[in-house]
Amino acid sequence: MVSEYRSPWMDDELEMFRDAAKRFIESEIVPNDARWREQHHVDRDIWNKAGEVGLLCTDIPAEYGGVGGDARHEAVVAEEMGCHGISSFGHVVHSILAHYVLNYGTEERKCNWLPRMASGELVGAIAMTEPGAGSDLQAVRARAVREGDQYVLNGTKTFISNGLHAGLVGVVVKTDPTKGAKGISIIMVETKDLPGYRVGRVLDKIGQNGWDTAEMFFDDCRVPADCLLGPAEGQGFVQLMRDLPYERALLALGGVAAMEYALAITTEYARSRKLFGQALLEMQNTRFKLAEVKTQVHVARVFIDDCIRQLKDGTLDTVTASMAKLWITEAQCRVMDECLQLFGGYGYTTEYPISLLYVDARVQRIYGGASEVMKEIVARSL
Ligand SMILES: Cc1cc2nc3c(=O)[nH]c(=O)nc-3n(C[C@H](O)[C@H](O)[C@H](O)COP(=O)(O)OP(=O)(O)OC[C@H]3O[C@@H](n4cnc5c(N)ncnc54)[C@H](O)[C@@H]3O)c2cc1C
Repeated sequence: MVSEYRSPWMDDELEMFRDAAKRFIESEIVPNDARWREQHHVDRDIWNKAGEVGLLCTDIPAEYGGVGGDARHEAVVAEEMGCHGISSFGHVVHSILAHYVLNYGTEERKCNWLPRMASGELVGAIAMTEPGAGSDLQAVRARAVREGDQYVLNGTKTFISNGLHAGLVGVVVKTDPTKGAKGISIIMVETKDLPGYRVGRVLDKIGQNGWDTAEMFFDDCRVPADCLLGPAEGQGFVQLMRDLPYERALLALGGVAAMEYALAITTEYARSRKLFGQALLEMQNTRFKLAEVKTQVHVARVFIDDCIRQLKDGTLDTVTASMAKLWITEAQCRVMDECLQLFGGYGYTTEYPISLLYVDARVQRIYGGASEVMKEIVARSL
């Protein structure tokens, strides 16, 4: 590591948890990552393996089968993935869905779904985006109609992370198209053997290619009425807004970990690369560039540590989480660009991890709310 800094929210118990996460990532994920990027998805059994060693649903209470930790445990897993350059494993989205179930599901559903999510039997996904509705969520056209004790779902979703393997999907639908945001609901869909449910293409992206991002089709899919995240219809928009700080903080944290990794490997490379009779690191431009990078990474780290503390205490608000997502993901893209430059032509080959960090970073400014949407949210608080 380039810095001796330790996050104020870390403690000895979390250090042990970090060691376990690190061992798992180094033995089960890193050796497979290149193959996963080629095939555009992880192997399905990695979910069960991660569940077995307690890396899924780490902040879900033990009474529902979770690890019984808090936001810091999720942060440790996200950091360890980030500092190993891993973008293939969609544990963050999985955890976000688990939180929707925990916060808004019926007691019976919580007892059924959460232990299966914690074990990796069910992989979670969140299906908001549609071909005609991304940033503008109110434009979703997927529809759920109540018929007796069931909902009937129709619609098309795209860009869904964990889409290929998803066993449980939180689908954002209109339950009343006349009511705008108040007509939006989230309905949980168990996909196994569900008539009318189909996964479409797994998308070919410029980065994060080990992570299955897929299209989903719902054609007269019938689910029990208690799969509505309630208690009543029309709560979906508010539920999404309430849970977004969690998602945005974890996305930003992944960005910080990736920047720390980039700084470490770039410094090491610059130290060993010789040109014009000296090490690349001895050139003033390199030292100044890396000094700038290190400063940005440290600022990002201190900001995100404060967010993690607030997340743990339940006080992280939408504006602060949006500022973190905005600033850190923009910094991430700048940092990856500066670091790649120092690798020269080698940085442009996939043999050097900096190239993957560079392409993986770009989407961070788009998904989870584009930077422009973050600015709107922050600006509204002025
Ligand atoms: C790899 C990947 C994974 C994803 N995973 C998921 C997932 O798991 N579930 C899911 O539901 N979705 C997912 N998405 C979709 C993602 O959330 C959307 O792509 C994102 O919300 C932007 O929507 P859009 O692509 O339709 O772009 P649009 O909404 O068409 O926006 C295009 C651009 O317009 C600009 N813009 C948008 N809003 C404003 C504004 N208010 N003011 C000014 N400018 C604005 C921004 O520059 C934006 O990038 C994923 C996307 C990718 C690429």
